[in-house]
Parts: sequence; C-alpha cells; structure tokens
Amino acid sequence: MTVIKDAIKKAIASRHFNGLITETFEFAINQEKHALEKNLNPFPVVVKDCFAVQDIRMTCASKMLENFIPNYTATVIQRLIDHGGCVIGKANLDAFGMGSTSSQSYFGPVKGSISNIDALEKDWRIAGGSSGGSAVAVHQGFADLAIGSDTGGSTRNPAAFHGIFGFKPSYGTLSRHGLVPLANSFDVPAIFSQSATECAKYYTMMAGTDIMDSTSTDPLPYTSLELPQIRIGIPKEYNHPTLSADSLAAWKEATELFQSAGCKVIDVELKHTDYSIVCYHILAETDIASNMARFDGVSFGHRSKNDFKSFNDLLAYSRSESLNDTIRRRIFVGNYYNVRENRGKYFQQAAKVRRLIKQDFDQAFNEVDVLLTPVTSHSAPYYSEVNAAKFKHRQRQDDYYTQPANMAGLPAISVPFSTCSEGLPIGVQLICNYLEDYRLLDIANILY
Ligand code: GLN
Repeated sequence: MTVIKDAIKKAIASRHFNGLITETFEFAINQEKHALEKNLNPFPVVVKDCFAVQDIRMTCASKMLENFIPNYTATVIQRLIDHGGCVIGKANLDAFGMGSTSSQSYFGPVKGSISNIDALEKDWRIAGGSSGGSAVAVHQGFADLAIGSDTGGSTRNPAAFHGIFGFKPSYGTLSRHGLVPLANSFDVPAIFSQSATECAKYYTMMAGTDIMDSTSTDPLPYTSLELPQIRIGIPKEYNHPTLSADSLAAWKEATELFQSAGCKVIDVELKHTDYSIVCYHILAETDIASNMARFDGVSFGHRSKNDFKSFNDLLAYSRSESLNDTIRRRIFVGNYYNVRENRGKYFQQAAKVRRLIKQDFDQAFNEVDVLLTPVTSHSAPYYSEVNAAKFKHRQRQDDYYTQPANMAGLPAISVPFSTCSEGLPIGVQLICNYLEDYRLLDIANILY
C-alpha cells in the first residue's frame, strides 16, 4: 500500500470525529503519482478549510461559502505540494476561524479524537480550535502535517488538547496569500505535527518571502546554543487564577526539567499580559468587520432566495442566513469600535496597549532566550460543559496564554508534556524572540 492510500484508509476510519469537511482522496492519489514521477517522497497533508487549494471547494466551515471553489492555491500549500505534499482533505474549523472549540462549524462540531469512542454519540471532548480538524488529522495519523491558522491560539490550543505539537511561526515568515483573513496583523499559517523536528522540516519547505504577501519575511538562520547557556524566562503573570492544578503542575515540571538539564531559570515580568485578550478583541473585531464585508452574496458566497425589495435587503438576507451568531455579533461590535466617535476610545487605545505588550516581551528577551508558560488552563473539556453558560467566559480566558504571542508577532509552540489526572494530554508553551523560529524548535526538542 502506498503512503497516501494508507493515510486515506486512516482518514476513513476516523470519520466519526468529523475532522474533514471535504475529502480530496482522488486529488491526493494524483498528487502522489506526480510526486513519484519527480522523485519526491510523497507525504499526506491536511489543510484547514480557510486556505485556498485550486479547484477544491473552500468553505471556511460556513454556509456562506458552502459552494465556493477558489481558482488558485495558497502559497504555503503550493510550496508543500512542490516538495511532495499530497492534500488528502480540507479540515473542519470554527466558521472563519472564530472560536477556540471547533464546535461552531456549519458542518457540525469536530469531536476531539482524545474522546472515549464508545460514548462519542452522547458527549465528547472538544477538539479545541479553531483548527480542531487539523489536530485530529495529525493525532489520528492520516496527515504527517496539518496546516492550521493561528490568530490568537487556534493551533496551539487544539495541539495541546491532542498531545501533539502546534507551532505558530513568527508573523510574516509564512505567507498569508490564500488564507482567508480573520485579523490581518495577527494571522499566521501554522503547523501541526508529531515532533519539533518535523515542524522544522515542513516549516523550511514553506517559510520565506512571497511576492504575493507584502508582510512576508525570512526567519533568521539557525544558530546553536549550548544547554547551560540557555536562559529560560518564567513570566509570573501566566500564573493566572484560571490555571488548573494539572496545568500548573505541568508548567512546574517542565521548569524543573530545564533546570536539571543545566539551563538557567529566571523570573520575568510581562506586566500588560492581563490586557491582552480585551485589546485583541477590539483590534480583531475591527478587522473582522472590514474583512467580512466582502461576503455579501454578490461577489462571493450564499445569495438569499428570499424576496427582496432593495439591494440592502439582498445583503441583509444573504448575510443573516449564512453567517452564524458569533460572526454577526463580531461584525457588529467591530463596526461599533470603528465609528468615528469610538475609534479613539477603543481602537487607538487597544493599539497603544498592543505596543506595551510588545515592549514587555522586548525587555524580557534582553534577559532570557525563551519563555516557558502554560498553553491552556486545563485539558480538553466535554462539549456539554462548553455549552453551559458558565463556561463561555472561561473559553475566552483560554486564549489568555496564547494571545500575547500573536500581539507581538512572536514564534510560539505548544509542546505535549504530560497527562492530567483524567489521563488527557497537557501541553506547555515556549515563546522565542521575533524571527528566532529555528531556535524555538531546537529548544522544544529538549522538552520532549
Ligand atoms: N479564539 C480567538 C478568536 O476567536 C482566536 C482564534 C484563532 O486563533 N483563529 O478570535
């Protein structure tokens, strides 16, 4: 059996997790043939369904784009294909990447593949998100790497829940061309894989400037550090009240592991951390309001069949029928932040705080080489828990540990580290200075 046929077999056996929106098995088999003709080693890839792959529908997990077929391929995906990547499916997500559970998809929720399979019909562990389907693909072994996107934690969070690696590179080192934007200055294509070495291998295939993305740039070349030279920063603000005993224990254990390997552990201060989520939501929602304007049922996507009397009606019907509550709320709020009377009060203030968050990191990296933090406050909760009103607030808090790295554009990785008392995976996070992606991946190898 070929590598790709074996992957397809595994994907079919994992259908109950609802990780894929579109299966592209024939396409992958063809790509495998082409790769072999060029003497490349084919490998199976799963792509979050907010990246364009030519002639394959791209839904962003929404009714709006249920039948949308792009006519070009995202740069990062094309670069993988050029190295032997074979796309076997488009992965499920929270619609347009808004969320951290992968439960808000028009195509039904992703079920975390760490769930108890016998009870899957009744309840399940959430996959985390928004790139939950991509995490399932790597966890179940039907992709060697899966592409996610990470705007506030969408790759690191599901990776932590599944006990795999989730790497969000420095902003700009992976091209965003062909990625449907959520919040442009935070969005980064990201990698799920089974090891830091694999992340580095695939990152190298994709990284670097792209003429189609004016914000793209190259990472710094790899420079080695001897173990005793590595200075590990522990930011005290990450010891947040929402942190579960299990996540705290994993964080402490990882700190001790570095210490016993001879690294120097230093306490650092990132004093604006607490403002990160609220500022992110002001800045992101403002981008969302503008980015989502293109989905109007005229140039793109779902067009209402309702009787309409005006052009405005057409837009209103089409959008309200095909964009979920979360998206509509975020568009609404974004427009509120952006009206002239409010811009100075919200948007500009949040942009200033973003600068302070970045400065905190700059100062910390004068003293340390890498930061070690928790990645999620707890292991994957049940779907039924997440739907309980009391949990909704906690979900936002979950991005607490991941969001600041997006604020500052820094490379960050979720490393599987231990298991909680219920036997579920718990990760820790490492963050390095801007463009030090290879150093980050090298240090991640020490932990695993
Ligand atoms: N949970 C955050 C949001 O909904 C981040 C999502 C992401 O990283 N795509 O905005």
